[in-house]
Amino acid sequence: MWQREFTEGFQLHNSEIKKAGLKVTLPRIKILELLEVSSDRHPSAEDIYKMLIERGEDIGLATVYRVLTQFETAGLVVKHNFEGGHSVFELDRGEHHDHLVCVVCGKVEEFFDRLIETRQKEIAEERGFAILDHALTIYGRCGDPNCSCDG
Ligand SMILES: [Zn+2]
Ligand SMILES: [Zn+2]
Ligand SMILES: [Zn+2]
Repeated sequence: MWQREFTEGFQLHNSEIKKAGLKVTLPRIKILELLEVSSDRHPSAEDIYKMLIERGEDIGLATVYRVLTQFETAGLVVKHNFEGGHSVFELDRGEHHDHLVCVVCGKVEEFFDRLIETRQKEIAEERGFAILDHALTIYGRCGDPNCSCDG
């Protein structure tokens, strides 16, 4: 399964990595592939490492950290330092969104609200700010019945 997905995505990831100005290496291709197929859109470096191990890949945690940092510098991934947890990474798909973070189980949900976006622009403009970037994170407890600290 992994092998087939891997082969199909190979050319695409190859060019994405090159476009980002990085040399194409197997760990880079495999980590990029994993970020694209993972149902968890905001995994930590440890999550990525565990998923690679589950797929039988021989990539060390230190390599995962290094590749993620390189991806971040190259603009392929965005790193979020959410409060009360470790950093998580997501592919930069070029679509702006904000986040809801569960402080108990660490679940991350995405949202986009036009009204909030518009108000933020207005507030910045009123104060003479040109917005370069913004991140809105709402912290709380999720409604998942299985929500627990080990989640
Ligand atoms: Zn926003
Ligand atoms: Zn939760
Ligand atoms: Zn996100």
